[in-house]
Amino acid sequence: MEWNIPTLEELTDKIWRCTACGNCKAAWNYGPPPEFGEICPAMVEFGFEGNAASKGKMAFARGILDGSLPWTDDLLQDMYQCTVCAGCQSQCELDHKPFIPEIIEAMRRKAVEDGVGPMPNQKVIVQSMRSFNNPYQGPRRARLDWAKPFKKAGKPLKNIMKEPAPVLYYVGCTGAYNLPTRNVPQATARIFQKLGIDFGILGEDEICCGSTSMRIGDAKAFQRVAEFNMELFKKLHDEQGVNTIVTSCAGCFRAIKKDYSLCKDYDKMFEGIKVIHTVDFLYEMFKEGKLKFKKEVPWKVCFHDPCHTGRHLIKFEVDEDGSKLWEGAYVQENLEDCLYDVPRDMLMAIPGIEFVEMERIRKDSYCCGGGGGCMTGFADWAAKNAAKRIEEGLSVGADKMISICPFCHYNLNAGAALLEREQTLYDLVELIDMALEEDVSGKTVY
Ligand code: SF4
Ligand code: SF4
Repeated sequence: MEWNIPTLEELTDKIWRCTACGNCKAAWNYGPPPEFGEICPAMVEFGFEGNAASKGKMAFARGILDGSLPWTDDLLQDMYQCTVCAGCQSQCELDHKPFIPEIIEAMRRKAVEDGVGPMPNQKVIVQSMRSFNNPYQGPRRARLDWAKPFKKAGKPLKNIMKEPAPVLYYVGCTGAYNLPTRNVPQATARIFQKLGIDFGILGEDEICCGSTSMRIGDAKAFQRVAEFNMELFKKLHDEQGVNTIVTSCAGCFRAIKKDYSLCKDYDKMFEGIKVIHTVDFLYEMFKEGKLKFKKEVPWKVCFHDPCHTGRHLIKFEVDEDGSKLWEGAYVQENLEDCLYDVPRDMLMAIPGIEFVEMERIRKDSYCCGGGGGCMTGFADWAAKNAAKRIEEGLSVGADKMISICPFCHYNLNAGAALLEREQTLYDLVELIDMALEEDVSGKTVY
């Protein structure tokens, strides 16, 4: 398959459109009176405006391109100490705005090609992808451990490789292998069973979506698994009747929706297949009256917007030929794909929920700190940053924080543990599962 993954050189024109104004270092509310909130986790921890936010990253990119910045340990560290959260992108208003995360990742791709990236701690991801096709060094036979209780309860999940179904639940590596987040796929499958959805899973045949590889610059590993997955999805569509792929991980969702679209065969491979996040999928059923909440969940909660279901899904209009503004101009953004309202509406529909907002939300959300390979590369910093986000939720009076990503789930609870708190972050599917009626047989025993 042919891909359009840009090199750093191909992004040169965009890189030079940064004016070094520094607006990207904070989330601004221009008032009056003007206010700002920290938006760049790297800047909060490591300071120094020159290295942080996209201003610093564009300066690095220029230096790498013209050869004035050789690969040094310091440069690599500064480049990889970035969660690729796109917080800086949401503040910038200049023409390279649509390409900021791509430029950061193109630098990493160049580092990997030149044999100096990723960071030492992240090499385990590279090796694990080669050996196990997942970033967690998880053996293939353990991928289905999360589903054992279903078999034990006499309600096994359909293996879509053997039996047809219109809906494929693509679990993702974090839900499958990361024990503290295992309740995310379990709650999802319980909900689907309670609602009588005809769905199947790939079981031991599921492999990584490639998101983590792409974020750390290992484009080859990404392409390898992406091509395998696209061919498998197409086969499942043609032979097993799959027309919908549901993902509960924000990272998988972003990868399949956006990273895979860099493949020239994307439209052909996904013809007749809709890719949707679990929450959006369930929200459609809720609006149709097919999902009704019966039980109260008396929690006071706030909502954490994952970067990959929010800012990363913004569609940007660029004036390629100069017919509207000037050649290459950033024209406007379209937020219709961003999952901002859907999870909030769903959350507030659950009986007993009291909802409060944090200050930094939606496009100005503050990243949990785990993205961009940082949970593996800089685990202590990722957890410390997550603790700050948990504190923000507590400061507005929320007892629990809700999100829609197992990756954020893991990292934010690591942050809660630093604050010596019990589990504080829950996935929205865990609440939906709690608020639904038992299934018709009344046998929810796991
Ligand atoms: S990335 Fe955008 S906001 Fe940041 S310094 Fe450059 S032009 Fe200014
Ligand atoms: S992507 Fe996020 S962490 Fe990276 S420079 Fe921008 S705001 Fe900072």
